[in-house]
Amino acid sequence: MMQGLMMKRHVLISDLIQHAELHYASHTIVSCLVEGAQVRLTYRELAHRSKQLAQSLARLGVRHGDCVGTLAWNTHRHLEAYFAISGLGAITHTINPRLFPEQIEYIINHAEDRALLVDLSFVDLVRTLRPMLPSVRFIIILSDRDHMPPDPEFMCYEDLIASEHGDFSWPDFPDDQAAALCYTSGTTGHPKGVLYSHYSTVMHAMAACRNDALGIGPASRILPVVPMFHVCAWGTPYAAALTGAHLVLPGPFLDGASLSKLIEQERTDLLLGVPTVWLGLLDHLRQHKIRLAHVRQVVVGGSAAPLAMIREFAESHGIFLVHAWGMTELSPLGTVNLPTPELMALAPEARYLQQLKQGRAVFGIELAIMDDNHQRLPHDGKTFGKLYVRGPWVASSYFRSDDRSSFHEGWFCTGDIATMTADGMMQIVDRDKDVIKSGGEWISSIDLENAALSFPDIHEACVVGIPHQRWGERPLMLVVADHEPDQGALRDHLAQHVARWWIPDRIVLVESLPHTATGKLSKKTVREQFQDYYLRQHSEEV
Ligand code: ADP
Repeated sequence: MMQGLMMKRHVLISDLIQHAELHYASHTIVSCLVEGAQVRLTYRELAHRSKQLAQSLARLGVRHGDCVGTLAWNTHRHLEAYFAISGLGAITHTINPRLFPEQIEYIINHAEDRALLVDLSFVDLVRTLRPMLPSVRFIIILSDRDHMPPDPEFMCYEDLIASEHGDFSWPDFPDDQAAALCYTSGTTGHPKGVLYSHYSTVMHAMAACRNDALGIGPASRILPVVPMFHVCAWGTPYAAALTGAHLVLPGPFLDGASLSKLIEQERTDLLLGVPTVWLGLLDHLRQHKIRLAHVRQVVVGGSAAPLAMIREFAESHGIFLVHAWGMTELSPLGTVNLPTPELMALAPEARYLQQLKQGRAVFGIELAIMDDNHQRLPHDGKTFGKLYVRGPWVASSYFRSDDRSSFHEGWFCTGDIATMTADGMMQIVDRDKDVIKSGGEWISSIDLENAALSFPDIHEACVVGIPHQRWGERPLMLVVADHEPDQGALRDHLAQHVARWWIPDRIVLVESLPHTATGKLSKKTVREQFQDYYLRQHSEEV
């Protein structure tokens, strides 16, 4: 075999911030702090402060391979922690504060976090959990002296870094070392840890920037509303440093009014977040008759983007909604549905329907749909199958777990059911555990919810399969609406979008719907709550 004659260099997370420091020193980051202030700093300053933090952490005893937990919003301090912790060779463990306290306790202990970096919003939570966290040696509050809580144990972030000179060289080490750790929200069982390496993180960031993915460059002005505690804000902190993009960090202010103000003030052109966040933003914009002027694209992932949202962004704001699909185990980017020439040549309504699909694989990710026996299924756009993926930023196992049930011969089983067309367009039908099995046939809860959301005055819809005397399972629809919807009209409306036999037997108006820590409908809770709804009705009818 003839070897290539090229250098072998590690690709490390510290290379990203170093690159920004060297080439985009004056490009800026805006950060909205929990304390209320807005901070504007350059990549030069960010890089310097990251090195100061790395020095502090090293002085406090953080070593290669240690996990350091963060409980924080999207702010420049959290960003500095990303670079400092991983840059040192330790592991940035981002903790989702929206998990139940028992789950947070579980993951901190499972990761054996050596230290915690905590925003002021989560001080009470940390105080409560403190006695149960034996591995945690010290806690740093991400704030300044003026805002410090009284607890003598807590250290002040700004004081700590101010005492370091920041003259520091990032260490070199193999790039297959662990860099960051995220736990999936664990709708069933304990949360599972996904341990990213430096290599996988940098590869993912490079992929995310490309024009066939999110198209991020030095002129981009990006607003990740997706939290840095949810799959590293979809990798945007790394992608921003890689390209020197202007990065806008919204802190804890994720409501429509705050976002709208920030988007206008910073003239952001790329927004990223889950559908619920955009529902809040669109509501605000509609009520106040605001048209977004500078935004080019809104990236939506985490749950299916509804048709009504795709249409409203296009028609009220001239914004293309990029539907993306991914998951924690994929760092998270898997597919994106981009405005290709073929798509843009379609009439608007036909295009919106195409935008409902989750898109094509980003280069580096391979997709396959398979049956229960791991046999490949046809890519005909119709056949439902289990979605499998593989690629350099896909998990090969879970952290400190011997559960191999999702891994098969080099593939990861996503737990999603999907269709694929011959030209590689993937559409999620449902999560495996949410697809409704009625009389041996499958019904997509996502399609039904989507159809309901285009009916007037329905704000949110949730469809679950629940036990049924005759069919095994039948769909039940819950809606959040301004008033009781006209059942007949709603059924006729659904029939225009889905097969008649898919239409839920009952449609129930509810005040609100439960959500998971990552903003998804908690179908498990709904199923539990309505478990015997049809069975009870059956016995009443008999
Ligand atoms: P968690 O379960 O902790 O929220 P993830 O964020 O990793 O974890 O969730 C990944 C799952 O979210 C995917 O497997 C898929 O079911 C769902 N998902 C992500 N993006 C989309 C999308 N665009 N459309 C439909 N479902 C999506």
